[in-house]
Amino acid sequence: MTQALTPLSLPPVPREFGFFVDGKVVPAGTRDLSERRSPAHDVPVTRIPKCTTADLDTAVAAARRAFEDRRWSGLGGAARGAVLLRAAALIRARAEEIAYFETLENGKPIAQARGEVMGCADMFDYASGLARSLHGDSFNNLGDGLFGLVTREPVGVVGLITPWNFPFLILCERVPYILASGCTLVVKPSEVTSATTLLLAEILTEAGLPDGCMNVVTGSGSSIGQALIEHMDVDMLSFTGSTAVGRRCVEAAGRSNFKKLGLELGGKNPQIVFADADLDDAADGVAFGIAFNAGQCCVSGSRLIVERSVAEAFAQRVQAKLARLRIGDPLDEATQVGAITTAAQHDIILGYIQSGQEEGARLLCGGEVLDTGEGRFITPAVFTDVTREMAIARDEVFGPVLVILPFDTLDEAIEIANDTVYGLAASVWSKNIDTALTVTRRVRAGRFWVNTTLAGGPELPLGGFRQSGWGREAGVYGVEEYTQIKSVHVEIGKRTHWGE
Ligand code: NAD
Repeated sequence: MTQALTPLSLPPVPREFGFFVDGKVVPAGTRDLSERRSPAHDVPVTRIPKCTTADLDTAVAAARRAFEDRRWSGLGGAARGAVLLRAAALIRARAEEIAYFETLENGKPIAQARGEVMGCADMFDYASGLARSLHGDSFNNLGDGLFGLVTREPVGVVGLITPWNFPFLILCERVPYILASGCTLVVKPSEVTSATTLLLAEILTEAGLPDGCMNVVTGSGSSIGQALIEHMDVDMLSFTGSTAVGRRCVEAAGRSNFKKLGLELGGKNPQIVFADADLDDAADGVAFGIAFNAGQCCVSGSRLIVERSVAEAFAQRVQAKLARLRIGDPLDEATQVGAITTAAQHDIILGYIQSGQEEGARLLCGGEVLDTGEGRFITPAVFTDVTREMAIARDEVFGPVLVILPFDTLDEAIEIANDTVYGLAASVWSKNIDTALTVTRRVRAGRFWVNTTLAGGPELPLGGFRQSGWGREAGVYGVEEYTQIKSVHVEIGKRTHWGE
């Protein structure tokens, strides 16, 4: 159980972190520090080193040594799983500290951050079992002279790049699975939310992870991130972030060593509501789907596709749900929606709210900057009179901006839902099983919710169709991504290749 530090207050001085290589915290020394200010309070909360490319090389070399001498991959799955189980317990024990830094750097409500941290511990619990159950296949049907085996091996050194919206959750949807496979890794967290990644590195060492298996380098995407995606000694890259940087990863892999790629990118996700749905449940889900994490979710339900006969009344229900949200200080236990994480994202969201109105959409509610005297908060915006060509209907805003697109027939609903370059997630709301299953089959998205939204857990994989990415994280599929397959042909008895 977590224990709340009450009352939660801002740190008197920012906490200075080192980066993490070969099982040790490396102090910043003479390196520049980047100071992170809380997006909700505008005071300095952390200082993080700006690593050099030489630091990255040292971290990759440590991960390479740890992989090649088999100090981790050579252990049995049970021993690797035991480390992951201990890490889960330590995450629970330090949940309050992790949640606190997540809230300070990201601006999300503390109660939400605690929930995410507990979910992360569960990821480690689950992945510990996968370390033991990961296996290949065998072919006993190749005739008396031959036996076939298909084995899985860890890919090697993995580079992991994460974004700022769920710094600890996205990390923990990947790290335990990567480690369960036997790979070693070098993580580059977002430059604005690095603290909790550094805490995880400490936790894993305390849990018994051998030195060099998890390294963390901190710094900007354009310097350290770019150097990592181009690195010749990284065997696989797992990238979570924007589609634009995802494209750079593909180009960099082609220019460097053809490293294997896992990409989790953007989304413009439909919430499809039929007139026969439980409209109160659906309105609750739609409001949650756009306002959760201040709309800064890759899987936000940002396009409400609703049957025309109920569209107006349904919009009012959503508006009423949004009006009740408690937006504000994320250190307040009662807050439901916190701050916009970066100044750049704040400007992008306001730009879309303005462009929507300029293009002729009607702002039904929200879209206002809350005057808290400090920090960045935007009330959830809902737009009607939207056409599919408008930027607010096509682009991933990555903020609390919902567009309403009415439909008349099931085919039209599916056609609107698929009218996007993305394919990350979708929800359908209907009491009719035929309707719900038809939509689930025909809308192109890697994650689907029926009469709910944003549900998840360690068992079900994550990933997108189309420009939302490649590969899957989490679940059995998530650990398999970090393996490669070897076919082994075993001759039984005398070899008779030329028939002699
Ligand atoms: P971003 O692409 O700007 O940054 C993500 C990470 O990439 C950061 O660590 C950043 O430092 C790094 N980076 C930036 N430029 C780089 C470069 N040239 N080379 C290598 N690394 C570089 O994204 P963001 O603003 O942090 O996050 C928002 C985006 O992430 C949204 O598009 C969102 O949909 C996406 N996202 C997707 C998922 C998913 O699971 N599909 C989850 C969360 C966020």
